[in-house]
Amino acid sequence: MESGAIDRRLLAIYDELFGFYGPRHWWPARTRFEVIAGAILTQNVSWHNARLAVAGLRRAGLLHPDAILHSPESIIAGHIRKSRFYNQKATKLKAFCSYLTTVHSGSLDRMFHHDTEHLRNDMLSIRGIGRETADSILLYAGRKLSFVCDAYTARFLERLGLITGRWDYESIRSLFMTHIPPSVAMYNEYHALIVHHCYAVCRARPLCATCPLAGSGEVKQFPCRRFGCGARRTAKHRTRATSKEPQGKCVQTRQGVDVAVSSLYSEAE
Ligand code: SF4
Repeated sequence: MESGAIDRRLLAIYDELFGFYGPRHWWPARTRFEVIAGAILTQNVSWHNARLAVAGLRRAGLLHPDAILHSPESIIAGHIRKSRFYNQKATKLKAFCSYLTTVHSGSLDRMFHHDTEHLRNDMLSIRGIGRETADSILLYAGRKLSFVCDAYTARFLERLGLITGRWDYESIRSLFMTHIPPSVAMYNEYHALIVHHCYAVCRARPLCATCPLAGSGEVKQFPCRRFGCGARRTAKHRTRATSKEPQGKCVQTRQGVDVAVSSLYSEAE
């Protein structure tokens, strides 16, 4: 596919998702350090549980790099039990705070003053900070141009036929960063919209009959691989999509989708 066509497809998908779901207001946090703590705590766990763990740190007065650095790991772990793997995550929080203190004198302003790729490479050398976490910190705490990808993004793009065969995190990140405008606001919103869409509709068993992309030129022109739906939606496809809904609920309207999403976000892990 030629480069201009990928640009147009990615922008068309963004417009459809934004028009349907509206702004997602990410990242929900009061401070930059809270974003960072949340990015670490949400690894391999639902956002709901990560949020409970962040609240635990806040109640204990530990939502500050100095407080984390000077507290024993066992104490930190005790306040973030909801995030699962809490011992490992306590170690990761301390590792990040140690890096911040040693390399940037404990100042997030100083840290985010550095060039994005330099900072990204630095963070990837910290134990427990992977690509998704590093990019989340750069984009949502540092407001730097670094697109965040995850397993949802890969599944979504694969279904839309935008990636095929072998892919990796860096190639998906590069796809977005090459083909959409270099805008922090757009990077922020696009990732949030994909996550929201994949929670609500494009699930492991997608609810294609209610997909906002299914009625658009985007999926009509390029039917999704999952069910070959979009332009060819039939009663059979609708039945398949909705009958897989876990609560047996038929999600047919935007309001219905919003209800389904809020119940997912509040699901205990
Ligand atoms: S049409 Fe189905 S598979 Fe394609 S993006 Fe929508 S929900 Fe996902």
